[in-house]
Amino acid sequence: MWFAEAKKIYIMPIGRVSGPVISEIEEEINRAFKKRVEILEQASLPLDAYDRNRQQCCSTKILEKIGEMESDGMVLGVIDVDLYVPGLNFVFGEADPVNGIAIISITRLKQEFYGEGRDHNLFLRRVVKEAVHEIGHLYGLSHCPDSTCVMYFSNSIKDTDEKGAEFCEVCRRGEYFLLK
Ligand SMILES: [Zn+2]
Ligand SMILES: [Zn+2]
Repeated sequence: MWFAEAKKIYIMPIGRVSGPVISEIEEEINRAFKKRVEILEQASLPLDAYDRNRQQCCSTKILEKIGEMESDGMVLGVIDVDLYVPGLNFVFGEADPVNGIAIISITRLKQEFYGEGRDHNLFLRRVVKEAVHEIGHLYGLSHCPDSTCVMYFSNSIKDTDEKGAEFCEVCRRGEYFLLK
C-alpha cells in the first residue's frame, strides 16, 4: 500500500484550536494511515498571512512559513481562521506535497458558519475528512472523480458531507498519483 511508506505525521495547531478537536484528528489520522502521529506545540497565527479586508488567511503563505521549519515528517497545520488562495474565494485546505506540508481550516466546517445550530459530531466528521484528504495529497494522491471518496474535491460543504472519510478502491491502489 502506498501509505505503508514510513513517514511520521505531525499535527500543528496554528493559533487557538480546541484541544479535543486536535486529539480527534490525531486519533483518526493514526487510524487511517497507521502512522505515528504527534501533536506539535501551538504555533502563533502568522499575521503577514492575514488579509484584514477579506478576514481570511492566505493558506499558501502559511504553508511557506511552516516550510521554514525543520521536520522529519509530514506536517498538517490546523487553523480556525478562514483560508483563501489567490483566485479562489475560500479553500477548506491546501497541500504542498513536494515539501510534505498541508493545512486545513476548521472555520467552514462548523454548522454555525452557515447560520445553523451547532452539531459537534457532524463538525468532527468534516474535520476528519478534510484532514485525511490533505494528507492523501501529501502522499502524492490527486483528486478522485468518485464523489463518495475522501479524495473528491470539495467545492462546498455539501461535497464534504456527501463524501466518505475513506479512500475508494482506485485510490487505495494508488492510480491517481500526482507524483510517482
Ligand atoms: Zn484536494
Ligand atoms: Zn478515490
